[in-house]
Amino acid sequence: MRSIATLNLQYAHRFYKFKGEAQYLHGHTGTLTIEVEEPINKGVNMVYPCNEIKKVAWNVLKNFDHALILRVDDPLLPAILGVYEQTGIKNGTPQNKMKGDAFKTDLAQAYPDCRLVVTKETMTVEGMIKIVYDLLKEKLNIVKLTFVSGDNTASEEFPSHISIERCPCCGIALNEKGVCPKCGYKKDNAHPLF
Ligand SMILES: [Zn+2]
Ligand SMILES: [Zn+2]
Repeated sequence: MRSIATLNLQYAHRFYKFKGEAQYLHGHTGTLTIEVEEPINKGVNMVYPCNEIKKVAWNVLKNFDHALILRVDDPLLPAILGVYEQTGIKNGTPQNKMKGDAFKTDLAQAYPDCRLVVTKETMTVEGMIKIVYDLLKEKLNIVKLTFVSGDNTASEEFPSHISIERCPCCGIALNEKGVCPKCGYKKDNAHPLF
């Protein structure tokens, strides 16, 4: 069965060299829907708590929120970084608190201090799905992603590829030691009664 979580991202971008209005800098609220598939966790009768899917995703994806997303070859990039530098916000400000973990993949690199994501390909809704899957595929068994931004929507299905072991008491992922980081439940394979 699937658990489905949705989150919003507000961002600015443009399609560099695209012959249309989208070549100009503009902004959106994008809505990402993440579908996670697992067998039902009998302890809590859930696949995966939706707020936990959101939390896992948001830790990384908040890099895209209130952020500028530009392609690596876009000449706006050095221009904007120059202004950020001149105005003292390039390396962060005390008010820039909602920072995600910096990441670097083949498709995108995040600079949380200046709320910038630099992408290899144009950040269309299709491009965003590729980036998001790459960032989250090891953390969640994502079988479908849908991204809506303005009038554009893209969706892709992925094969089930991992299974995340979850706490039977609260439903969240166990850490690498088999312990629930929320309630302390410990998976004990060597338990004499089992
Ligand atoms: Zn756009
Ligand atoms: Zn727990």
